[in-house]
Amino acid sequence: MTFADLGLGPEILKAVEEAGYVDPTPIQEQAIPVILMGRDVLGVAQTGTGKTAGFTLPMIEILAGSRAKARMPRSLILAPTRELAAQVAENFEKYGKYHRLTMARLIGGESFVDQEKLLDRGVDVLIATPGRLMDLFDRGRILLNDVKILVIDEADRMLDMGFIPDVERIVSLLPKIRQTLFFSATMAPEIRRLADAFLMNPKEVTV
Ligand code: AMP
Repeated sequence: MTFADLGLGPEILKAVEEAGYVDPTPIQEQAIPVILMGRDVLGVAQTGTGKTAGFTLPMIEILAGSRAKARMPRSLILAPTRELAAQVAENFEKYGKYHRLTMARLIGGESFVDQEKLLDRGVDVLIATPGRLMDLFDRGRILLNDVKILVIDEADRMLDMGFIPDVERIVSLLPKIRQTLFFSATMAPEIRRLADAFLMNPKEVTV
């Protein structure tokens, strides 16, 4: 199977080719067509499997063509660490270079003022660690009513780091009608419980 068989548009295919990828990885083959159809995905995958492109590529396709309103992000990616948030942001920049999507990264230790300015301009893709997102929400700087796609990346690390209460609060603030993509390297009972609570009829992808 090639990237062109997965249903991605020409701009993304060009960005993928420029990244030097020849064939999709197994998780990309399985997840990309399903995400493009609008279905929820439960991905059991480690880093190194290509999972980030597996959700980034179809999200760019889905979000292309309309614009975010001020303070109302259209998609939200929750990541446990600054490093992972940075990697996800790099993926969106690399694969989205032929689209005009706006992106912001909200992580601890950076200026609130700069992050608030970005939010005010309107953000299609918001990448955040749970604590910083809650801080900005509690300051009234962000509205979550327009989020169409939620990604929870590395749920097992969120659990290890004690972020699950924040994640549950954030999810409770999102529209019930949305697409959710949930990734974890392992499926401990607590992770399974969260997946059951957050996902609707997901396609399970294990690599
Ligand atoms: P990830 O599992 O998302 O952390 O990705 C691991 C690494 O694989 C990253 O450095 C990606 O740039 C790379 N990668 C992702 N998809 C492909 C692909 N289809 N072919 C070759 N490398 C890839």
